[in-house]
Amino acid sequence: MRVLITGGAGFIGSHLAEALLARGDEVAVIDDLSTGCFENIQPLVGKPGFHFAIDTITHELVMDRLTSECDVIVHLAAAVGVELIIHDPVRTIETNVLGTHAVLQVAARYRKKVLLASTSEIYGKSNAIPFREDADRVLGPTTKSRWSYSDSKAIDEFLGLAYHKKHGLPVIICRFFNTVGPRQTGQYGMVIPRFVQQALRGDSITVYGDGSQSRCFCNVRDTVRALLLLIECPEAVGEVFNVGSTEEVTILELARQVLHLVTGERQPQATERLVFVPYAQAYEPGFEDMQRRVPDVGKLKRFTGWEAQLSLRETLQQVIEYYQLKRMSK
Ligand code: UDP
Repeated sequence: MRVLITGGAGFIGSHLAEALLARGDEVAVIDDLSTGCFENIQPLVGKPGFHFAIDTITHELVMDRLTSECDVIVHLAAAVGVELIIHDPVRTIETNVLGTHAVLQVAARYRKKVLLASTSEIYGKSNAIPFREDADRVLGPTTKSRWSYSDSKAIDEFLGLAYHKKHGLPVIICRFFNTVGPRQTGQYGMVIPRFVQQALRGDSITVYGDGSQSRCFCNVRDTVRALLLLIECPEAVGEVFNVGSTEEVTILELARQVLHLVTGERQPQATERLVFVPYAQAYEPGFEDMQRRVPDVGKLKRFTGWEAQLSLRETLQQVIEYYQLKRMSK
């Protein structure tokens, strides 16, 4: 198979590229390195079947050529990370909406299958836990920029489904829940790389709010496995899938676990090492967080047999090891 990965130098994209090459597929990556990082794909450069273009997905000539040469597009290029979204809402909306529009247009020209990355932010602050793909969305006002991410991705979904309906384009939508693993950067606010780096530096762990909010963290290898299964599932076309773990943890408990794994102490001087940062200070005044976010992954399992295999503990160990090695190589 020849797979075009937009955003392929990003965290999920680079893991996907690696997995595809390992099983003998061809991979072309397009990435403008805005949040992706060349270091992520450096080890793949020169490998048979690997090609890359440092360019934007709205560059039509380049996308036209890459699309004509591939069998399937995995569209991961997007503005992600709550911090980035709050601080750069124009970029978020433009990248997500215009970028996806450009990808779908050219995909339709060549009738190529598109796996479109969406997000659990789609559900907003709904408390219909666990979230099912057909659940209602509950969002805050447009004056709170966090919600622009959810709506920009919802437009992407609508557009993808519309291309499927109107033009018969094979589109599959994947709503990623919190995805973590080696190579994810804390630069755009993601909690696990931030906590791990803080713990390794001996700094305080910045728990936002009171830490009672919870998330389910899915190992990127499990996420990649889900993508590979969906690509090969003909019934998945025209459908929306949650992709995530159901192992729920509060952010406070997560901070304790990271400290425990890094320091080895059973009950680390937990409270001393934690600092509680009000949301208004961490993000912006009036910021609204989701209290809980848990996927219902029954549909993905029914269609593909997928189940998450890696526990949060294993994932944390992998991330800690990754950052330990990075620190040593500096
Ligand atoms: N968070 C935190 N400290 C940090 C970064 C994030 O307590 O240094 C919290 C954040 O407020 C949220 C959770 O961790 O409740 C997950 O944040 P992340 O940005 O990783 O993903 P989100 O679920 O918000 O998309």
